[in-house]
Amino acid sequence: MKNQSDLTPASVPVAVLKSSGQKIPLLGFGTAAFPNVDHEVVKAAVLEAIKQGYRHFDTATLYYSEEPIGEAIAEAVSQGLIKSREDLFITTKLWCSDAHPGLVLPALKNSLKKIKLDYIDLYLIHWPVSTKPGTYEFPMKKEDFMPMDFKAVWADMEECQRKGLARSIGVSNFSCKKLSFILANAQIPPDVNQVEFNPLWQQKKLREFCEANGVLLTAYSVLGALVSNGGSNKVMECEQLKEIARAKGKTVAQICLRWAYEQGVCVLAKSFNKERMKENLEIFDWELTEEESKKIDEIPQSRGYLGEDYISEHGPYETFEELWDGEL
Ligand code: NAP
Repeated sequence: MKNQSDLTPASVPVAVLKSSGQKIPLLGFGTAAFPNVDHEVVKAAVLEAIKQGYRHFDTATLYYSEEPIGEAIAEAVSQGLIKSREDLFITTKLWCSDAHPGLVLPALKNSLKKIKLDYIDLYLIHWPVSTKPGTYEFPMKKEDFMPMDFKAVWADMEECQRKGLARSIGVSNFSCKKLSFILANAQIPPDVNQVEFNPLWQQKKLREFCEANGVLLTAYSVLGALVSNGGSNKVMECEQLKEIARAKGKTVAQICLRWAYEQGVCVLAKSFNKERMKENLEIFDWELTEEESKKIDEIPQSRGYLGEDYISEHGPYETFEELWDGEL
């Protein structure tokens, strides 16, 4: 493993990924501003995040944030904010239309060209479905859905790691069932499964399954997601969380992020606002009490990201059920 010299300037704890042995900071900066991505806004936000001490950045082909992240990294190096790109942990993802045997490596090379990097720290299969090649759309259209050739696509992901283009590989939005299939057939097991994870969607079964199999669960939409990107205000408006936040002198966002961190997962948060990105970093020098954790445990569960409201607008329901396997 190469020495990543300075991944934690803001005291963000790191974990070691089981298969690759790579270090990953346990708080990452989300960059999905989809569908309203402004190149300069993303670049400025990433640069500010580096200044504040974020060292882990999450992007995807679909987010159109690869290019501005690349520019922000170059700028951060030239301003001396970081010594080199080695100081950062960058994740990107394979879009569904490239999730076909033979298209994976070219897709990663394309992403690397956009980010202007020689390698990515973590490459993920974005969703457990394939869509017609050439379509970069979200939500995916039902008529574009194709069954994924999991074995062949994963073998191509392994090739990305062997060739040194991705230091670690993993999946996203995979249920226990789909993850089991990859684990049973992999030569290089996935290091990460990135999924929705928040106090209103605690995914206990999936979290325990990931832990038992040495896969680091990475939590997205911990704050309930960008409403324009299929999220809702349910998490930030949750009365139980507001009560805990008030009593503790923290914000609801901080309670959510701290809770997720205490579940032993890696946490992502997206904010392009200077004050809120700072607030999201300030979760490592205090903890939730047993009683507070118990209150959060008892919150009724419902999927937020691409949940019922979103489906009723964008349906059809079976399309999304196919994505989730209908599992809790
Ligand atoms: P999120 O982090 O749960 O929430 C983002 C929203 O919360 C934004 O509207 C943001 O607005 C606001 N926010 C951030 N910090 C706040 C705070 N302290 N107080 C109040 N509001 C705050 O949502 P997310 O973007 O869905 O998830 C995070 C990242 O995970 C994404 O950016 C992406 O990188 C990744 N992700 C992956 C998948 C996948 O399929 N693998 C799916 C969704 C997301 P401001 O920017 O205005 O602060």
